[in-house]
Amino acid sequence: MNRTAFVSALAALSGLATPAFAQEAPRWSFAIHGGAGVIERASLTPDQDAAYRVALTRALEAGAAVLRNGGGALDAVQAAIEVMEDDPLFNAGRGAVFTAAGRNELDAAVMDGTDLTAGAVAGLTRTRHPIAAARAVMERSPHVMLIGEGADAFAASVGLEQVDLSWFFTERRWQGLERTLRERGDPIPERPQGAPAPGAMAGLPAPPLNERKFGTVGAVALDAEGRLAAGTSTGGTTGKRWGRVGDVPVIGAGTYASNRDGCAVSATGDGEYYIRASVARDICARIAAGATAQDAGQAEVDDAKSLGGFGGVIVMDRDGRPAFAMTTSGMYRGAVSSNADAEVAIYADEAR
Ligand code: ASP
Repeated sequence: MNRTAFVSALAALSGLATPAFAQEAPRWSFAIHGGAGVIERASLTPDQDAAYRVALTRALEAGAAVLRNGGGALDAVQAAIEVMEDDPLFNAGRGAVFTAAGRNELDAAVMDGTDLTAGAVAGLTRTRHPIAAARAVMERSPHVMLIGEGADAFAASVGLEQVDLSWFFTERRWQGLERTLRERGDPIPERPQGAPAPGAMAGLPAPPLNERKFGTVGAVALDAEGRLAAGTSTGGTTGKRWGRVGDVPVIGAGTYASNRDGCAVSATGDGEYYIRASVARDICARIAAGATAQDAGQAEVDDAKSLGGFGGVIVMDRDGRPAFAMTTSGMYRGAVSSNADAEVAIYADEAR
């Protein structure tokens, strides 16, 4: 009997792992998303489609490099998210959407599945990498969530890079704000100080035609030591007001990881609904109760949809199986592991 047949027979006898996977479980595994939403083939030009695939591959590689070299799941999550926070294509860090007042207010969270420690920030305006601030809250403060000026001050106090407000500015998101405010009949604020003149950023990819509010980024990882971690970072929703905070920094809503349950989750979508459905925590509960990552993720995004919220999730299980589930026409996403090359996808009907 060859090894595959032996493993299959053993698995069938014990009723445990899926035979094919029992042999193939990767040493480490990594998955990312760059937001879900109304993303259709007709709404992306070939150049835009290609630009997103390149950007996703770059972020995947940043995380994979950490894991390949024996690094930890948290480091991989942070590395990939920082790459996407610096990339103006995504609604996180540089490229974040604007509030109704014409500011960028950034939210992020990270969670370590091994001990259920977590850190989150909301309403940052000055910290270049919100995911690094979330991690610092987790590791270097006695708290779980910090907001606003205090959160930026804490990030600065632990040495995280602070930037001018204009760092986060992109013409594409500014135009998105103007469009949203015009539709709402609300006044359009002054361009932020230090923002480049209209037309000065013409070299950047134009916005997809039907672009809606999504574009959040996230990552989930299993490292070679078996540790699970998840992280998410966002600018939130275009034209948000009154200090609005979405699901991303709410632990259990947009972000959750638990080695106990065997899951790591990062979500993107209509934050208000994802909070109410406690999407990320519920996915972990479903997995702990025996569901596959795919079924758990799909059941939960469907549940949020039944309340009225659309979006998607990425899930990693304790065996390094990534899962992607969505209720939208697309989600920028990708996965890589110790035994599978990097693969990225955009539209819902793509294999990954
Ligand atoms: N979930 C994010 C929020 O509500 C938005 C997104 O995923 O694009 O802030």
